[in-house]
Amino acid sequence: MERIEKLFLLASDALKSGDLSAAKRYTGSMKRISEHYKVRLPNRIKVSVCAGCGAPLVAGLNCTVRVVQSKNYVSYKCLSCGAENHIKYKRIRPRSAAKAKRS
Ligand SMILES: [Zn+2]
Repeated sequence: MERIEKLFLLASDALKSGDLSAAKRYTGSMKRISEHYKVRLPNRIKVSVCAGCGAPLVAGLNCTVRVVQSKNYVSYKCLSCGAENHIKYKRIRPRSAAKAKRS
């Protein structure tokens, strides 16, 4: 788990310094480690690795983040391969709206 965390940090640092191939190499070995030791990748890491090309996704650098309210998901679009990753979310009704409905 520690190695996965370190590799993810290295991958995002490599991407920020402009070395995309090194970043992909880091995420690749991160995936191999998780498969070999049968450790699940934490959700926040899973979300920020492109499913298409394996590049780490950094908002504003190589991916766009869009909230699709009508379908309750956040879309992460990779700018290097165009793959989209949809993360569903649950909408929580604000308290004031719940109270207004009751009365
Ligand atoms: Zn990609």
